[in-house]
Amino acid sequence: MPQLIADRPLYRLPSELGKVMAEARAREQAGEHVFHLERGEPDFDTPPHIVEALAKAARDGETHYPDSRGTMELREALVEKLRRENGVAREPDDIVMTLGGTHGLCIAFQALLAPGDELLVFAPHWMAIPKLVALAHGSRMRTFSGYLELQSGADDPGALAARLRAALRPETRGIYVNTPNNPTGVVLSRAALEAIATVAGERDLWVVSDEAYEHLLFDGTRHVSLASLPGMEERTVSVFTFSKSYAMTGWRVGYVVSPAPLRPVMGPLLSFYTTHGVFPSVQRAALAAIRGPQDAVETMRRAYQERRDLLIDGLKGQNAIVVPSPQGSFYAFANVAGARAGRDIWDLVREWLSIGVAVLPGTAFGPEYTDWVRLSLATRREDIVEAARTLRDHVRSAVGARG
Ligand code: PMP
Repeated sequence: MPQLIADRPLYRLPSELGKVMAEARAREQAGEHVFHLERGEPDFDTPPHIVEALAKAARDGETHYPDSRGTMELREALVEKLRRENGVAREPDDIVMTLGGTHGLCIAFQALLAPGDELLVFAPHWMAIPKLVALAHGSRMRTFSGYLELQSGADDPGALAARLRAALRPETRGIYVNTPNNPTGVVLSRAALEAIATVAGERDLWVVSDEAYEHLLFDGTRHVSLASLPGMEERTVSVFTFSKSYAMTGWRVGYVVSPAPLRPVMGPLLSFYTTHGVFPSVQRAALAAIRGPQDAVETMRRAYQERRDLLIDGLKGQNAIVVPSPQGSFYAFANVAGARAGRDIWDLVREWLSIGVAVLPGTAFGPEYTDWVRLSLATRREDIVEAARTLRDHVRSAVGARG
């Protein structure tokens, strides 16, 4: 038998989410009940006016090969949105429509990374990042722990800049940052982003700015787009998606916004990697999302904030699970050092599965996060309340049992 699977690092990367979901499913099949705090899938339906726009466009015959970069009308609407909401001045030719943010990141890394190049990834990071970097022809990534230090106050922006400078190597070509962040819910302040911008400028690095959760902000926190900072427009590739803001995960639509010198590669890359662009009727629906009423976005934002409050409230009265309050996205990253009590993080994850609560181990977001788990707020309100109560009662009795 020939060896069929190519010997590539990509195929050896684990899927921790897949593992947790499979174990949760096995328990459900055996008749147990599981609260799903491991997944990041909005439980809201796509707003009806967006669904209707798709149906109408399909009926009207918008079913042919698109301009692979995206329709001019949609890209013009996005230029306007970027100016109004993000403070970023771009032209339609600087935008390509993608199959969601994942695909946008894939294209960005393909455009920017060559063999031997290194990407410095702010961590903890979304778990697809290592796979997307591994797809990019012999390039490598290294993590840089950034969000928790800012959240806890261990770093101010000046300290962050100093650590970042020290972390760079000659082969480092670019930085990946994600605000609001999955999994910590940290929203990078303007001052923190300015610190990153300063270092990127000094070392002539590019930055990929993942803004998938730009609208999911709590307590009046503001989102700042890195490309809006002085000097950053020319070195920032920004990635956006309709998945989270409009509960459109299944539609697979997002966009990448890049500096003009990337124009010659973004169009062709898009064409190769989508075999010719995003379904035109879906683009019509995306246009309805951008131009239509935004009240559904606000309704969902409020719901996530309420669930955040319920989670934190529900975990009061114990100190084995410590949850710094997320300011955005729909996740909380909890320190579980007390509950883990020196064991392997998977032992804790399995113990919690056995009491009916599925969570994702912090190691999915970087190998150093052995004391952490991610709890998803994209879960029904009642389930969050019940799961928090279950965990609180469990850790209280476990600590009692240990003595
Ligand atoms: N970036 C981050 C940080 C994410 O968490 C996600 C989705 N989980 C994405 C990008 C991409 O999402 P999608 O492909 O659905 O647009």
